[in-house]
Amino acid sequence: MNLHRSDLYRIHFDRYLRFGTPIVLPVERKDEHATDRYVWRSRHDEKVRPSHRANDGHIFSWDHPPETGHPGQEPNCRCEAIPYRPGETEFAYHTFTTGLASSHERWEDSDFVWHFFTGGGRPVTLSEIGHLRDIAEVYAYETGTEGAFRRLSDQIAEKARNSSSGSVHVDFGRAYDFGDVAFSHGYSSVYGAFEGTVVQRGDMLSIEGESEFHFRDVFTDPLDLRQFSAWLEANPLSFWRLVDLIRVAYAVSGVAPLPPDFFEKVDVEDVSSIFRFISEVGGTRYEIVEDWTASFRADVFRDPESSAYKSGNHR
Ligand SMILES: [Zn+2]
Repeated sequence: MNLHRSDLYRIHFDRYLRFGTPIVLPVERKDEHATDRYVWRSRHDEKVRPSHRANDGHIFSWDHPPETGHPGQEPNCRCEAIPYRPGETEFAYHTFTTGLASSHERWEDSDFVWHFFTGGGRPVTLSEIGHLRDIAEVYAYETGTEGAFRRLSDQIAEKARNSSSGSVHVDFGRAYDFGDVAFSHGYSSVYGAFEGTVVQRGDMLSIEGESEFHFRDVFTDPLDLRQFSAWLEANPLSFWRLVDLIRVAYAVSGVAPLPPDFFEKVDVEDVSSIFRFISEVGGTRYEIVEDWTASFRADVFRDPESSAYKSGNHR
């Protein structure tokens, strides 16, 4: 017999009135409210906006929408809400476990060049140059078609299916173009490893673990003509800031006083003249590094045929 909660309450209230019995209702079974929650599913193509990719595979409650709103609420959003039933509905998501906020001022392109002249080769972290959040989020949600988090979810699910020991290990690594964050980053590599466990529950595998990510870049060449010319064209004001920086770099480095012929040598109408000038100043290459972590939770179907999480999604 299945009684509604309101029926139960009536019965208990009646007993309370007649016999003074305290009203104690049985604890609700969790799955009675299973469909109060849903799994966000995006279309997995290049048109999905990154903020919605960040929601993909997460479980949300209809009572507490994410910052983006529920699927389909924003104009042209094609994302779907799949009713979530524990143990029956697939989900998979990463959560950054390293704080991405930075209290440091964000480096502009000219700051990279400045450090090249004055830093003496000292490595910098993404956090101290104010780029950690941008890089980590671009990596997670914008590289390739769907972002690294989704690719990694598929790889982890595939490894979990083939695990006989209950442990799951995935190595990953590649170079990506981070030029949209700052031209100075250009192609930089991100590599790392996932360590986790897998437990079989009925038709599903429950996976849990943590990934480490390592960002490695070397700032070698402020004279990368192709990138630099494009940057100067896009940032005409930065040209003068750079000229200023070079003058200060001269003064600080003590290598040489600013040559009296500085403005004779540098013709503002001729970009190549400033390149020649910079190359006389010298400079030291330096590493741009950072490490961050993310946790992973997933329930995926054991059978790859019925699963949305499998390798081969990203050809
Ligand atoms: Zn969407």
